[in-house]
Amino acid sequence: MIATEPMTAPGAVLDIAGRKIGGEEFALIAGPCAVESRAQLLETAMAVAEAGGTLLRGGAYKPRTSPYAFQGLGAEGLRLLAEAKAATGLPVVTEVMDPRELDAVLEVADVLQIGSRNMQNYPLLIEAGRCGRPVLLKRGLSSTIDELLSSAEYVLKEGNASVMLCERGIRTFETAYRFTLDLGAVPALKERTPLPVIVDPSHAAGRRELVLPLSLAAAAAGADGLLVEVHPRPEEAICDGPQALRTDELAGFAERVRAAAALGRMPWE
Ligand code: PEP
Ligand code: MN
Repeated sequence: MIATEPMTAPGAVLDIAGRKIGGEEFALIAGPCAVESRAQLLETAMAVAEAGGTLLRGGAYKPRTSPYAFQGLGAEGLRLLAEAKAATGLPVVTEVMDPRELDAVLEVADVLQIGSRNMQNYPLLIEAGRCGRPVLLKRGLSSTIDELLSSAEYVLKEGNASVMLCERGIRTFETAYRFTLDLGAVPALKERTPLPVIVDPSHAAGRRELVLPLSLAAAAAGADGLLVEVHPRPEEAICDGPQALRTDELAGFAERVRAAAALGRMPWE
């Protein structure tokens, strides 16, 4: 598959352990920024399952700006993700940052997340392509749509067609929020590629108050799903607490965004 060819076929539908992403489906991918503890992860995973979530997210290896910040629980985080998957039946998406950690991550990940900071880590993209596991590829925070598609091509070229793209906000002059969510990327990517397009409003917003409006807009713009951070007690979160939805608001959130997604799928012309 060539990601950068004009889209002639209907959107690709990825099968993630029996769950569909793309096509008529609207995916809700939710979970904590980082796996912090057994209680935090299991409580969150239950809320994601109850809200009808498609996948559970959670980082065991975290890309942090400061080397002194919490770097994730690593192997213990992966073990907890496996436990949460067994408890809820939710497939798991988790980030891999280093090809040397790929085998360990593959033990639990149904989808490999390649984060913004690694969008152009070519050896990692190639290994993710070779291993054949579905990939969620996040747009680099200063990368163009062309560059995102070229990075996807590195995975596809290795024979792995299960790639979803994720808009997560880009750097602009604006400082009122963490990044500027580029919603134009949704229809622009869909003109160019059949790959599913997911939107992450959490990292773009940086604060919870903006997550619902950005999510509604993304769903109405035709996104194939959302990637949102959620935590049972955001005030206690080790990272990204201010942008996390509370677990008790996730079901209501899901209902609102599904209504917007239905609007985004209505035929027009
Ligand atoms: C994340 O989703 O956990 C994350 C670190 O996001 P990004 O790579 O978009 O910053
Ligand atoms: Mn985060």
